[in-house]
Amino acid sequence: MLENLILAQAIDLIPDPIIAIDDQSRIVFTNEAHTQLTGWKLAEIKGQNGRLIYEILSDVNLLADEKKNFKQEAILYKKDGNKLTLNITCTALKHDGLPNVKLGQIVVFHPLFLQAQDIQKTSDDFVSTVSHELRTPLTSIKGFAETLIKSSDKLKESDQKRFLQIIKDQADHLTRLVEDLLFVSRLDNHKLHLTIRELALKKHIDRVCEVLAGQAGGRIFIYDFQAKLSTVMADSDRLEQILNNLIGNAIKYSPDNSSITIKTQFEKKEKNQIIISITDQGAGISEEDQELIFTRFSRLDNPLTRQTKGTGLGLYITKSLILAMKGEVWLDKSDSNGSTFSFSLPAK
Ligand code: ADP
Repeated sequence: MLENLILAQAIDLIPDPIIAIDDQSRIVFTNEAHTQLTGWKLAEIKGQNGRLIYEILSDVNLLADEKKNFKQEAILYKKDGNKLTLNITCTALKHDGLPNVKLGQIVVFHPLFLQAQDIQKTSDDFVSTVSHELRTPLTSIKGFAETLIKSSDKLKESDQKRFLQIIKDQADHLTRLVEDLLFVSRLDNHKLHLTIRELALKKHIDRVCEVLAGQAGGRIFIYDFQAKLSTVMADSDRLEQILNNLIGNAIKYSPDNSSITIKTQFEKKEKNQIIISITDQGAGISEEDQELIFTRFSRLDNPLTRQTKGTGLGLYITKSLILAMKGEVWLDKSDSNGSTFSFSLPAK
């Protein structure tokens, strides 16, 4: 009895907000820090669905998984109607003697002051990177335009055309960059509306490949549809955006006349999922760079990347979209024989 009392008071002293739900997702417990942060008293929300308070952004089926702790992102809904995006750690609630019986879930929300510092730093870094990314093409546009104004009478016609082409290419790059940035901002602010419905995967792959075939040079597409009639639950435009980014990269970062394989397979192990893999025969990504590629503005410093157009936002956007549709994305392998990127989406 005394032990329970100590435990309850000790949990109330912990500065991190904590919430526990049972196996039916009903709220059974919150600590004092949780009340302070959200404004909800336990008595007001006890027995209600945990979704009233928080929503985990990546869909880890905690109760079905063997692993104990998951660090991930969640949205926390406060009583005053505001919401916060926070890092959380979840643990499946299990009885020592009955490891297979899942009793619920405990969620710990991480200290806010640390995240506030992180957010400030991320935002400073972001502004400085964006300024740099915008300044580089602008400097080039300004330089070539000035040369044309000052010395066009001394320049050969072919050089004038070349300079104008550079100005146009850089302006196109700026347009792409601004479009990607606006999209990233909508993603980061959860303003992107997704219409999730059943989609015939093959139809969308065919459509994207048909459009990309025009830019594929001598590269050939090989299809390996092991899950031929698969239906995924996704937003149609966003699914095509993801395929376009990944297959587009396979084209950009591989040699002419090589092959690009698109494979689909059904994965049942943990969840009902379809896995889509894209394999190219490019030069690959070094091990140290592999950790960077899904972050913002991660154009790698290699000759192939320098020759191709891009903003370094494609894989970041791709990952965010896939997570929002309850899937995952990963780099299966990458070496001097090529790379395989895979992503999963819930099957119907
Ligand atoms: P980008 O607009 O530069 O293509 P991405 O976010 O799509 O941006 O990719 C980030 C970086 O990862 C690229 O600049 C490139 O260096 C590397 N990369 C992406 N896909 C591949 C691939 N299939 N093979 C080799 N490198 C790749």
